[in-house]
Amino acid sequence: MTTKTAAAAARATVYGYPRQGPNRELKKAVEGYWAGRIDAQALRDTSAELRLANWRRLAEAGIHEVPTGDFSLYDHVLDTTVAVGAIPARHRAAVEADALDGYFAMARGTQDVAPLEMTKWFDTNYHYLVPELGPDTVFEANSTKQVAEFREAVALGLTARPVLVGPLTYLLLAKPAPGVAADFQPLTLLDRLLPVYARLLADLRGAGAEWVQLDEPALVQDRSFAELGAAARVYRDLGGLTDRPKLLVASYFDRLGEALPTLAKAPIEGLALDFTGSAAANLDALAAVGGLPGKRLVAGVVDGRNVWINDLGKSLTTLGILLGLADRVDVAASCSLLHVPLDADAERDIDPQIARWLAFARLKTEEIVTLARGLSQGTDTIATHLAANRADLAARKASALTHDPAVRARAAAVTEADARRGKPYAERAEAQRAHLGLPLLPTTTIGSFPQTAELRAARADLRAGRIDGAGYEERIEAEIRDVISFQEKAGIDVLVHGEAERNDMVQYFAEQLTGYVATRHGWVQSYGTRYVRPPILAGDISRPEPMTVRWTSFAQSLSDRPVKGMLTGPVTMLAWSFVRDDQPLGDTARQVALALRDEVNDLEAAETSVIQVDEPALRETLPLRAVDHAEYLAWATEAFRLSTSGVRAATQIHTHMCYAEFGDIVQAIDDLDADVISLEAARSHMQVAGELAAHGYPREAGPGVYDIHSPRVPSTDEVVGLLRKGLAAIPAERLWVNPDCGLKTRGWPEVRTSLENLVAAAREVRATL
Ligand code: GLN
Ligand code: ZN
Repeated sequence: MTTKTAAAAARATVYGYPRQGPNRELKKAVEGYWAGRIDAQALRDTSAELRLANWRRLAEAGIHEVPTGDFSLYDHVLDTTVAVGAIPARHRAAVEADALDGYFAMARGTQDVAPLEMTKWFDTNYHYLVPELGPDTVFEANSTKQVAEFREAVALGLTARPVLVGPLTYLLLAKPAPGVAADFQPLTLLDRLLPVYARLLADLRGAGAEWVQLDEPALVQDRSFAELGAAARVYRDLGGLTDRPKLLVASYFDRLGEALPTLAKAPIEGLALDFTGSAAANLDALAAVGGLPGKRLVAGVVDGRNVWINDLGKSLTTLGILLGLADRVDVAASCSLLHVPLDADAERDIDPQIARWLAFARLKTEEIVTLARGLSQGTDTIATHLAANRADLAARKASALTHDPAVRARAAAVTEADARRGKPYAERAEAQRAHLGLPLLPTTTIGSFPQTAELRAARADLRAGRIDGAGYEERIEAEIRDVISFQEKAGIDVLVHGEAERNDMVQYFAEQLTGYVATRHGWVQSYGTRYVRPPILAGDISRPEPMTVRWTSFAQSLSDRPVKGMLTGPVTMLAWSFVRDDQPLGDTARQVALALRDEVNDLEAAETSVIQVDEPALRETLPLRAVDHAEYLAWATEAFRLSTSGVRAATQIHTHMCYAEFGDIVQAIDDLDADVISLEAARSHMQVAGELAAHGYPREAGPGVYDIHSPRVPSTDEVVGLLRKGLAAIPAERLWVNPDCGLKTRGWPEVRTSLENLVAAAREVRATL
């Protein structure tokens, strides 16, 4: 294949790079600072070293223009809050006393003041700190960090491009500050915010920046007419400034849709578009608006959110088309590389064959450089890369791991009936009532009990060989005994075994399923200093043997009360892993669902009468664009039903969901056809009970009455109050009593009292029915 040579040589760039360092040095330094082990200067020094190392690495790989300002001690949205001076009133004193400690106070709170709220960054697993704004917010530009980091990169002799969250996205991600009317629209502050961005841009120009990148991922979501109008205004106004760098407006995570014509027309110099996955629709849309004559297009052709090698040939074809649509085409990843681990070379345990299919951040930058070279200098200059890439892609395609005939045949044979329970809900409910004999307002928990230091030590001892498998199992059994006996004494009706054996609710299953690959160093920032290691769905999924039956049966052998089996659902297994990019998500979900179905059936065969399949991520992987919701919900709910429909009517299927607004997915929750659902609700005072009722949700539900995100112990009276609220929406025959979520992050003393109060409250309300 040949491509015509770009008018201007294509440049290679990225929007951001993992911050943590090869051995999570940043986490250690920040936590060391919090604990008083190192001082502020040492933290600053480590941070600067990490930034310099990243830039050098990028430059050595051949990246022409490095990003600056993407580094963060905690979160880049919080950094933007500092840059625009939107410090919440309750944190102002701390920030004035000490900028660094004040910054961490906003991130984590202190004894006396609450932190900013944290929520997911679009549909990724990264969490940002939500700006709090109100009619009294006064913005003030603070370009210190941006200017200093830009200068650091320039001092290395590099071409650097500062990256900031754009004003529109910043306001759209914000929420009304505490005490401000809930219907306050942060977007009304645009007039006040734009002069502050003008100042930041002028300062960066003054420091020598030729280009500045403003990230506007909020524009890939469905936006109202007024919001699109605001986008037009922002970039007309900023574009109209005289003292400014060239502006590159970046979008990622999906297609721009109706915002594309707006930005294409705006007086800005460049646009960055995502061309991966569903964002590939940007290609036709760009052609339809006549391209970007006179502008720079940065083409995100390398998937910045997944771990697979790029199809270089396919990307070159896309890039070749794009050359005819813009003045200059540069090559990038689809989004910041923050969302992938650093380097797959560190993975010694992954089968070397599979390792060849993987590209973490370091390799992605090499792919970007290779593509830019192919685009500028002709594909024959990268012929060896292309040949090796083709061979790796072919090997992946032909591999027995990605094509297990037995798994494929079984998935293909699935019928509509397989994903339906044999009896309708009403008949099942009756059979379950007779079988389980539970009281009204039955009490239960969500699964995990405190993950104590002793449990973590037991796992560490096992890994280090200090204890053997039998020694480890003994410790887990001892813990299960304690958990069961506590629950019996407390008077809980449906018990759990406590999940002591699980390091993580996804990884635990991933480690036991064939087709999943775990990493040792594949850390990705979740929030602040918290990093996770998502497992990789690499091949066809099968279950060599039962995964949970041993522990659930052991727990059941200790009690006459029902012990709930506990599994992670197919959608959540996908959401918290890196997924395959070589087949539709729905196909992968179906394979996982079939493996879980076998587990559910095995649990039932082992006399488990209540089985919970958690789907906390059902809401969070909802696609960003509403037109894509129906397709997603169809495969997601089918996968859940497929995993849970192989059981008798008398076996009660529970599900659990948290951290979400459920209002817009009540129909999907209904479509799961679970017999009982537990939901997070304590903080919103049972709001979800009303939402279920308004929908006419016909099944049993347990809106959480104990907020497990805080060490606070709810009083019996408080739980009684919440239950009464719940009863106003859900009849007593269908209301369950449970906490918001699992108890793994809590301590035993507070858990004991809280659950005792919860049981006391259930009894008190029961007595009045
Ligand atoms: N069963 C899991 C637990 O109790 C559910 C966790 C979750 O919803 N995030 O920990
Ligand atoms: Zn939960």
